[in-house]
Amino acid sequence: MEQLGHFINGITVPNSSSRSGQVYNPALGKAIRTVGFAETADAQAAIAAAKAAFPAWQLTSLAKRTQVMFSFREILNARKGELAAIITEEHGKTLPDALGEVTRGLEVVEFATGLAHLLKGNYSESVSAGIDVYSIRQALGVVGIISPFNFPAMVPMWFFPIAIAAGNAVIIKPSEKDPSASMFMAQLLKEAGLPDGVFNVVHGDKVAVDALLEHPGIKSVSFVGSTPIAQYVYETGTKHGKRVQALGGAKNHMIVLPDADLDLAADSAVNAGFGSAGERCMAISALVAVEPIADALVKKIADRMSTIKVGDGTKGCDMGPLVTKAHRDKVASYIDAGEAEGGNVVVDGRTLKVEGNGFFLGPTLIDRVTPSMKVYREEIFGPVLSVIRVNSYDEALKLVNDHAFGNGTAIFTNDGGAARKFQNEVEVGMVGINVP
Ligand code: NAD
Repeated sequence: MEQLGHFINGITVPNSSSRSGQVYNPALGKAIRTVGFAETADAQAAIAAAKAAFPAWQLTSLAKRTQVMFSFREILNARKGELAAIITEEHGKTLPDALGEVTRGLEVVEFATGLAHLLKGNYSESVSAGIDVYSIRQALGVVGIISPFNFPAMVPMWFFPIAIAAGNAVIIKPSEKDPSASMFMAQLLKEAGLPDGVFNVVHGDKVAVDALLEHPGIKSVSFVGSTPIAQYVYETGTKHGKRVQALGGAKNHMIVLPDADLDLAADSAVNAGFGSAGERCMAISALVAVEPIADALVKKIADRMSTIKVGDGTKGCDMGPLVTKAHRDKVASYIDAGEAEGGNVVVDGRTLKVEGNGFFLGPTLIDRVTPSMKVYREEIFGPVLSVIRVNSYDEALKLVNDHAFGNGTAIFTNDGGAARKFQNEVEVGMVGINVP
């Protein structure tokens, strides 16, 4: 079976030990390749290559650095279908979802091509007698990126186009569950004219992550993943003197007020709850229905769910499998827990049968969930939508504010004042407001 190596100094190199993991095609439930798990020495080799490449890259003109991003944009745009196919093969999301992911990433690449406008400094005259002060924006050096499985192309592209255009050298540690997208992008960056050593890929697990967090040669770390690991990365990285941005998990709410357009709300709940099989940090997983509309809304959502076609993401389905068998089983165990704690499983994804051994779980709707239940408290990260019935808008707002996660929230109402009240009173997270 093919073993994926690291990408260091412009070439693919094998792992220094036999430690490795299996990469699956989740739609087939079959291992398709293995990926070497870096030892500390492998990560150090990548850091050394990046450190060596950094001085010349930093001194390369801004015009040339952004030109490389222009070329990368052109090459990636021409070959985005190939990248989408790689994502679908290892992650399982449908091909249109994978293409959407690449498109979102390309937007950041395009943003990076205009970085010259953002790298300007400031100048303050006579801040003290005879003293002027100026500030300039400089590259940090070698920067690390640690990314999650659910967006193997887009999340790395949130960071590396900006980091590279700004003159840094990059080491990415992608998710070991779908590592090939980063390798493909590394090849395209090389084709775009990026000098060897400026972009490196190191695969693996905690050993590779710790090597990046502890090494003095890494100046900053950008992490996206689950909250406990985000916290670990933040604490360990900052303890070692690095700048760290760490983005964690979420439990996103959708509040539906009694005057809302229930058809629009039901369409949106289905798209936001089950797109990418719910494996999205901004997926809606908690639907807060403000009575008396819950019965009608639950029926509309359940009717729509019966039309969702689940299957291989390359075969024109609406929803693919979950990323691994372990994750599929974990999500199914949340449905068990929701049922055991008194939730009403209106649509049960556990009963779905798809031919073959793929890691499939059907879309699931659990009604009459209460805030004390595990399905409400924890991030499930799968196609499970919980309905929480409340009696007032204030009760709904309190739910959002009381939740432990940083939440995105969508509000469905015809009352602009209600949206404004939300904007004023919500305490945490990002706010998405939909006023039809
Ligand atoms: P994860 O936390 O399991 O893994 C993220 C990265 O950390 C991977 O590269 C992984 O190899 C590494 N890692 C895992 N365990 C580690 C450990 N013990 N020590 C050091 N490194 C470790 O997350 P995931 O399952 O790959 O991704 C899903 C999570 O990411 C969800 O919680 C989702 O909400 C979150 N996410 C958040 C955003 C956001 O913008 N906030 C975006 C996408 C995903």
